[in-house]
Amino acid sequence: MEFKDKVCVVTGAGSGIGREIAWAFATAGAQVVAVDRDLATLDRLTQDAARAERPLHVRGAVCDVADAQQITCTCDEVVAHFGRCDVLVNNAGILRRGALQDLPDAQWDQVLDINLSGGFRFARHLARNMIANGRGAIVHIASIAATQTHGGCGAYSASKAATLALSAQMAVEWGPHGVRSNCISPGLIETALSAPFYAIPGVREQRERLVPLRQIGTPRQVADAALFLASDAAAYINGHNLVIDGGLSHALIAQVPRPETA
Ligand code: NAP
Repeated sequence: MEFKDKVCVVTGAGSGIGREIAWAFATAGAQVVAVDRDLATLDRLTQDAARAERPLHVRGAVCDVADAQQITCTCDEVVAHFGRCDVLVNNAGILRRGALQDLPDAQWDQVLDINLSGGFRFARHLARNMIANGRGAIVHIASIAATQTHGGCGAYSASKAATLALSAQMAVEWGPHGVRSNCISPGLIETALSAPFYAIPGVREQRERLVPLRQIGTPRQVADAALFLASDAAAYINGHNLVIDGGLSHALIAQVPRPETA
């Protein structure tokens, strides 16, 4: 996939899936603006990019996506520096566990601020530039939790379900201006953060057994999907939710005992 000189903004790019997405766009020739609230992780990313065999163009931007003012500044800087934005990947997200009946307002607000409102604000700002240019692609990283909720995940599922609806609305409102909006819903993806959990004996095997492809996904597989949805190869794909879960979200019904297996 070719993104030579395209300007791509990726949020939550300091670690995990976002880092892999930023790296993948940069490797494909893009000028990447890697957004994260953590300067140290961004520094590691930009230094790795500068040291790569073929130097990659990655610029770090410290920004808390829960802070509307910081988002405005970051987006203004992107447009002032590059003159345009071609691709936005709304990836920054958090999961805070807790039973709904005990969920404090502050935690509900924090998850929605980061997972939903932050993505809306980034898209709103950068879509103005995309609309003026008559083209652009927005990819939101949602989750299979948007439709397959698991207990105790607090506001997470609600924030991801709302992301699907918001993306569809963007697709309808901004499609006539040449701006596409799509979602990716990853399933079980192993990142540096979840690696210690997978190192617990039995966890990987237990989880793999539930996935029809019998594998845990990788950040690179999510990044490949983001590249595709942002590319011209997906020029007629708008308002879609691409599920990347090895078939997991279709597997529940297979767990139900049947007369022949009971
Ligand atoms: P991760 O490793 O925790 O990476 C998320 C990145 O976003 C971190 O660098 C984090 O920084 C940053 N971030 C969090 N809050 C932020 C804020 N307010 N402002 C700026 N940056 C912020 O998580 P991940 O597993 O790669 O997840 C990435 C996305 O994929 C999320 O939207 C998540 O919901 C979604 N997802 C993940 C999985 C999975 O299995 N991993 C499955 C489905 C969906 P800090 O380290 O400072 O928090």
